[in-house]
Amino acid sequence: MTENVESYFGSLVFDDEKMRQYLAKDTYKQLKVTINEGSSLNLAIANQVAHAMKEWALSLGATHFCHWFQPMTGITAEKHESFLSPAKDGKIMMEFSGKELIQGEPDASSFPSGGLRATFEARGYTAWDPSSYAFIKDKTLCIPTAFCSYSGEVLDKKTPLLRSMEAINNQALRILKLFGKDEVKRVLTTVGPEQEYFLINKDLYLKRKDLIHTGRTLLGARPPKGQEMEDHYFGTLKTRVAAFMQELDVELWKLGVYSKTKHNEVAPSQHELAPVFTTSNQAVDHNQLTMELMKKIAEKYDLVCLLHEKPFAGLNGSGKHNNWSISTDTGANLLEPGDNPKDNAQFLLFLVAVIAAVDEHQDLLRVSVASAGNDHRLGANEAPPAIVSMFLGEELTEIMEAIAEGKALPTKAKEKMQLGVTLLPPFAKDTTDRNRTSPFAFTGNKFEFRMLGSSFSVSGPNFVLNTIIAEKLAEFADLLEGAKDFSATLSKLVKETYIKHRRIVFNGNNYADVWVEEAEKRGLLNLKATPDALETFISAKSIALFEKFGVLSSTEIHSRYEIVLENYSKTVNIEALTLIDMVRKQILPAISNFSGHLAQSVLNKKAAVPSVTLSYETQLIEELSKIADGVDKEVLVLEQDLLEAKMIEGASPESHFYHDTILPQMAQVRSLCDTAELMTDQEYWPIPTYETLLYSV
Ligand code: ADP
Ligand code: MG
Repeated sequence: MTENVESYFGSLVFDDEKMRQYLAKDTYKQLKVTINEGSSLNLAIANQVAHAMKEWALSLGATHFCHWFQPMTGITAEKHESFLSPAKDGKIMMEFSGKELIQGEPDASSFPSGGLRATFEARGYTAWDPSSYAFIKDKTLCIPTAFCSYSGEVLDKKTPLLRSMEAINNQALRILKLFGKDEVKRVLTTVGPEQEYFLINKDLYLKRKDLIHTGRTLLGARPPKGQEMEDHYFGTLKTRVAAFMQELDVELWKLGVYSKTKHNEVAPSQHELAPVFTTSNQAVDHNQLTMELMKKIAEKYDLVCLLHEKPFAGLNGSGKHNNWSISTDTGANLLEPGDNPKDNAQFLLFLVAVIAAVDEHQDLLRVSVASAGNDHRLGANEAPPAIVSMFLGEELTEIMEAIAEGKALPTKAKEKMQLGVTLLPPFAKDTTDRNRTSPFAFTGNKFEFRMLGSSFSVSGPNFVLNTIIAEKLAEFADLLEGAKDFSATLSKLVKETYIKHRRIVFNGNNYADVWVEEAEKRGLLNLKATPDALETFISAKSIALFEKFGVLSSTEIHSRYEIVLENYSKTVNIEALTLIDMVRKQILPAISNFSGHLAQSVLNKKAAVPSVTLSYETQLIEELSKIADGVDKEVLVLEQDLLEAKMIEGASPESHFYHDTILPQMAQVRSLCDTAELMTDQEYWPIPTYETLLYSV
């Protein structure tokens, strides 16, 4: 099936080709206007589109349709309805109307709403998003939709993204007009998310309650061999993994997902998939489908795909690199350095817009990647730290510094840089991407935001990126539109913006401790954990930003704030309860059993050979008993702490308590259990060890 990809690529997508094929010319044209300009579609047209979609779906064996949406759970939701409709004489018809296409009414009350439910109606509705293609999955025609409460507050991850794309489109068009690019009608942001994941054996997974309930191991001593040999990265694929990846590719290709690169990652059993980039909106949908299919297809190979950010302590966790750029409908990438003076000036303007936006809204970027799972990665040695900084590469930094200082440019051009007049000296694009420690790196013609966790919807980070950059572009356009001397104003703007925000640029090693000190000196934020980061989301500055561009209202921001914090506390709570359960029902009994076995052997030996020395067994019994008592004591404390957590009112103080008290107490319990594991006969250890989990696929 892998051969002849052209013949089935996108075969399950109602894409442009199928639209042409199934729609009357006029209908097709009107639909395209709706897609390209975001205008609304009248019911007559919607009816025709729905009919065409249904005919196409039936031809591929579909029996159901659903509104596919992305609630705040971070995964996708769907409610299936069959096309079936009763007809005369006990017969049936397969029907799908324009109304059913445009709007659906799932019960909103069972999805996270962050307090919106209390104030507003529980009902919600889904609205068709024509800018993302419908597709077939599990014999169901899936219609990508946005999800709102009945009073209009958005309850999903998709709507703010669409709104932010609109915002950046409007502002970038203003800028391009100033550079005489009147032919550009639309500016689109593009995203290519690199997805990391683990694959482990399903039978082992099923023996670990922590993996089942929390997605990560809450216990487990380091294996003798971790990732220190660095022999897994880009290594040959194991047969079963290769077969899994192949099937995954085929299924993704059928859904029109440009799955492109696959390889082993740094940690044992860790892998990565990267698609070719596409518009942000599609990239979000495609990444959701990718994660869903990874999980589903893994099962067919008796594997389980772990998308948690930190499944194994002491080994690399999984992230998601969000490659981001901005391009025009005429095919120009606005982050591509130009090859003539005017385009160079334009490039530099967009560049400083990003620099300024990232510096001014470090907090929001941090918020956009905040979760209980990702907190285990950010700031640990394998992932970017919780401090947001930016990598430009040495050469581009030198150029920017020369502009800032009014100095001669570092290479070639001898004369003083005058934007729009002088050619930017050629500089090597850092395509080799040498600095892998930077949270936000310029990689030649795009930025790579590396702080995302592997399980994230890429929607959040992208609507934040789009909005903060739209804000800067708006500021720039306001200034430049009124300028008497465009060229001089532009030069001054680029220079001053860079000077004001250059503290965010850091090309060194982000993992080094000295950077933490240096960043503090520069006044950069270091929001280590989710509860700290989230406070900045509801600041006046943040609300003003999102409201100005119509991306989120104050109410919607507060609802999201509550949802994320509640999710954080709930996650840690489930982890703590799972840990207690495992320790009480599995770990302590195992230690006791093994000690009992040792004690029996002491008695046996003594009986057989009265003069025998028994220090190995008796010492071990003593030590294990001491540890078991310690575990028991610490678990009691953890149980008390959890009771205390329940009494705390307010999402914020609650989340802080989980962070400051519950997590450290869990670490206490774990540390003792892991020590016991290393002293216990593996026959007696009740759960698969790291070694078995990581080296048995
Ligand atoms: P790596 O980061 O592993 O070195 P690459 O730099 O080759 O890999 O590409 C990573 C991702 O960046 C891919 O998904 C690719 O499609 C995406 N990408 C490339 N150009 C753009 C762009 N203009 N906009 C968004 N993503 C892009
Ligand atoms: Mg990368």
